[in-house]
Amino acid sequence: MRSRYSAFVQNRAEYLLATWHQSTRPEQLDLADSPNWVGLSVLEADETGDSGHVHFKAFYRFNDQWRFLEERSTFIREAGQWFYVEGKTRDESFKPGRNESCLCGSGRKFKRCCG
Ligand SMILES: [Zn+2]
Repeated sequence: MRSRYSAFVQNRAEYLLATWHQSTRPEQLDLADSPNWVGLSVLEADETGDSGHVHFKAFYRFNDQWRFLEERSTFIREAGQWFYVEGKTRDESFKPGRNESCLCGSGRKFKRCCG
């Protein structure tokens, strides 16, 4: 899952397609319009046998607003490799608290960092 997130950040479409299950994989993937991700927060992850779920939020900045994409993704394991099957996604803007730790993972308070 994290490797797919890194691939999104690095615009590595071929890796994303390679780890996408054939039943739901798109013909091609254009990442030209994808946001500049600043952080990832995995809220929950579990696996049972050959199926797994990851619930995460990925943060980005767009038009001077902080936004996040939240998704519950379903993964399936075939021949020892995990594949992304599908996910329920929502995309929202939000305001981080000034004293919260920054989304970028710097460990500093938001107001002293990306705020
Ligand atoms: Zn920051």
